[in-house]
Parts: sequence; structure tokens; C-alpha cells
Amino acid sequence: MTERIDGHTLLIGLMAYPIRHSMSPTMHNNAFAKLGLNYAYLAFEITNETLPSAVQAIRTLDMRGSNISMPNKQKIIPLLDKLDPATEMIGAVNTVVNDHGTLTGYTTDGIGFMKSLDDEGLDIRGHKMTLAGAGGAGTAIAVQAALDGVKEISIFNRRDEFWDNAKRNVDIINEKTDCKATLHDLADQDDYKAEIQSSYIYADATGVGMNPLQDQTLVTDPAWFNNPDQIVFDTVYAPRTTELMKVAEKAGVKHVFNGLGMMLEQGAAAFKLWTGKEMPVDYIRQILF
Ligand code: NAD
Repeated sequence: MTERIDGHTLLIGLMAYPIRHSMSPTMHNNAFAKLGLNYAYLAFEITNETLPSAVQAIRTLDMRGSNISMPNKQKIIPLLDKLDPATEMIGAVNTVVNDHGTLTGYTTDGIGFMKSLDDEGLDIRGHKMTLAGAGGAGTAIAVQAALDGVKEISIFNRRDEFWDNAKRNVDIINEKTDCKATLHDLADQDDYKAEIQSSYIYADATGVGMNPLQDQTLVTDPAWFNNPDQIVFDTVYAPRTTELMKVAEKAGVKHVFNGLGMMLEQGAAAFKLWTGKEMPVDYIRQILF
């Protein structure tokens, strides 16, 4: 690392709180080193209160950009100059690119989700997806999947503070893409089961299965997965095998994934935006996983 840092090194940040647990600095710095690129990636503990001065610092220090995570993904939008069209639909930013003082916001989580399936040789375009969750990850997945050609998406959510967001996601997808989106209440278990069973892919973007809910899953009965060729995708990657994945594996589902591939590919998409280069994902996979 020290061999690479010189007077020309460009800084890329990660602005979130909490953030010390993140794998992104390891991912990006190893990729820069592997390709001999003169960038350094550092994590900064940034809250909503310190976000405006942190964004100003991107301009002042002529940083190449930054990743943005909770709690700043929505709050950053008015501080930027531009949003790419998909990000405008998603309404949240996880990557900022600084082009000579012009800051553009992107969201790569949905791209990462789709790419991680491509990496497995699975194509969900033209098929139906059932998706649980309409927060940051759920919104990015739904919008990107719709833009990329998924035919139908059934979005399930609790009637909590994300319900209105789920409604907004359905409306925007129906209005701006050829995908047919519908909203469903997670409490309606018969509907939930039927929608899962008529889908090629079931994805969970709720965080149920992750600490402090690591012993829980929204689908508890293996009989709900009655097609071994179906895809079951949990966005959670800690633990590596979630309760949902155990239920799907018990049911004999062949394509069961955690969120590691999505995490890697969302990083690779951001890497490309900053550097113009492909991240060496197989090399990084060996280091991280
Ligand atoms: P968020 O807080 O924005 O949204 C949470 C969503 O889960 C909402 O739809 C909410 O209604 C729902 N929810 C929460 N608790 C629930 C419960 N007990 N039962 C049913 N629904 C519940 O969170 P987020 O940022 O969208 O993150 C969601 C998950 O996605 C997390 O596990 C996160 O780690 C994961 N994620 C993974 C990646 C990746 O690259 N693999 C990227 C982003 C997020």
C-alpha cells in the first residue's frame, strides 16, 4: 500500500455511520493494488449532521468520489449536482463520482444483485420475481430488475414505515418500465406462498436473518419451495448461511444464495464508475470470502 501512495494518489471515501465493520476498504484497496491503479479508499464515520461538510470535502480535496451508506443514502441527494436516471427512480445513492467538481449520484446495489445472478449463469430477465422488503436494498433490487427486463415483480412488505415506499416502488416501476409490479401485505400468508410458488426467483431484502434477527426467517416451511429449479436469494451475508437459506436447502432448491455476490458486484460497479476499469472480481472473491 505505502509503495502505491504518492503525490498523485486520488482519494475515494466511504461515508456512513457505523462503518468500521465494512469490507469495502479491503475490497477496493486490494483491487487498486492488483491493477496498479493510483487510488486509496478510506472509511469515514459520517452522520447526517456531518454529511454536508463531508460532501464539500469531496469537492475541496478533489476526491474521485465516495461510497455512501446508512444513514446518508437519501440525505445526500440534495447535496449532489446530478443523479443517473435509475438512481433518480430508486431515490437513494450509494456511489458518488466527482468529475472536476460535478458530483453525480449512482446506486449500484441493484446492479450488483443482477450481476451476481449473471455470475452464476442465471438469467431472471423475462421471469417473475417475488421480493420481500422495500427499504434501500429492496428498492434498488426492484427498480434495477424492472429496468433490466424482469417481467413481473410481487413486492411484499409489512405495514410499517416502509409500506408507503413499497407503494411508491410499485407505482414508479409500472409507470416507467415494462415490468408489472404489484404490492402485497406480508401478513397474508396464503398470498405470500402462492406468489413465491409462481415465481422463478424469491429474494429477501428485509434483513430478517441478520443480527439481531439471525434466528428468524420469513419463510419457515420448506413446502413453500416446491420447485427445485427456483432461485432463493437472501441479501444478508452475515451469517453466510441464513435461516431462509437453510429452509430452501432443506426443500431441495438448487440455486440458493446469500448476499456476498451482490456485495462484491455492487463494489465492482462502483469501481468501474471511478476508475473506468473492471474490478478483478475473482481475485477479490478469494481475498474476501
Ligand atoms: P432498510 O432498513 O432500508 O429496509 C428494511 C426492510 O425490511 C423494510 O422493507 C422493512 O419493512 C423490512 N423489515 C424489517 N424488519 C422486518 C421484519 N421483522 N419482518 C418483515 N420485514 C421487515 O434496510 P436495507 O438497507 O434495505 O437492508 C436490508 C437488508 O439488505 C439488510 O440485511 C442488508 O444487510 C442487506 N443489504 C445487502 C446488500 C448486499 O450487497 N448484499 C446491500 C444492501 C443491503
